[in-house]
Amino acid sequence: MIRSRQARGDAQEVLGTALRRGVVVKSERELALMREAGRITALALDAARRVIRPGATTADVDAAAAEILRKYGAGSAFKGYPGAYPYPAVTTVSVNDELVHGIPGSRRLCGGDIVSVDCGAVVEGFVGDAAFTWGVGEVSAEAKRLMEVTLAALWAAIEQMRPGKRTGDISAAMQTTVERAGFNVVREYTSHGIGRRMHEDPLVPNYGVAGRGMRLGAGMTIALEPMVLAGGPETRVLEDQWTVASADGRLTAHFEHTVAATESGPRLLTEFDANLDEPAGFRYNDYFAGRRVAASG
Ligand code: MG
Ligand code: MG
Repeated sequence: MIRSRQARGDAQEVLGTALRRGVVVKSERELALMREAGRITALALDAARRVIRPGATTADVDAAAAEILRKYGAGSAFKGYPGAYPYPAVTTVSVNDELVHGIPGSRRLCGGDIVSVDCGAVVEGFVGDAAFTWGVGEVSAEAKRLMEVTLAALWAAIEQMRPGKRTGDISAAMQTTVERAGFNVVREYTSHGIGRRMHEDPLVPNYGVAGRGMRLGAGMTIALEPMVLAGGPETRVLEDQWTVASADGRLTAHFEHTVAATESGPRLLTEFDANLDEPAGFRYNDYFAGRRVAASG
């Protein structure tokens, strides 16, 4: 997530012209390094997911992800990230009305909460960035539908990651999927290019007009991240100066994958590598593929 440079007006047009030169197209070698960063990001998120249960603290969730980064010798794209003060953790853990940038701490999760976890691993200078929302025990029908719609918006965006498509196609796919379901996309935070930096050009708003904006080329890498609010689109920043929550206190959800546009179609860089990493059990990819939105115990 990154704060949009233009929160109002037709951001797509601005992004399509002024920022084009800032886009870094990645070579196959660079994509391979980003895939490795993405694979470790997925592992960290899966470890974080496993500790989500009633009574666990958000710090426990962060610690599980941090252990994976340590184990694989990966850096964190989050820790130390500049803001009002340097970001203090390797994940953001945002609960219920908290949309993004929740700081892990002593808060204990309760049954019925929904928890968004975002993480970024760094390998040889390249960043992977991904996020998911998970239910704690049984969640409300609205919470479940919000998660399903947000995940569907992510996959609608991924489908657009093809050379010749435009950033507006990505934005419109997310916005249409979300608004058709009666929910709202965030306005002040955007999807973003990614590579040697977590946030590169282009910025890709969660809303926009198909056919507008920058044209995608092979080797462009974007962290696609629908941030969805069950109520109105307005957000507020909490007293900790990081956490972004819905202004109306309603539920929010957030999913993210780092994806490359290639001649053979969208390539997921933050996919979980089940063959190498987990012989059995939960399949992170199934969840991300929309085949499963379930609650954990
Ligand atoms: Mg991101
Ligand atoms: Mg992220």
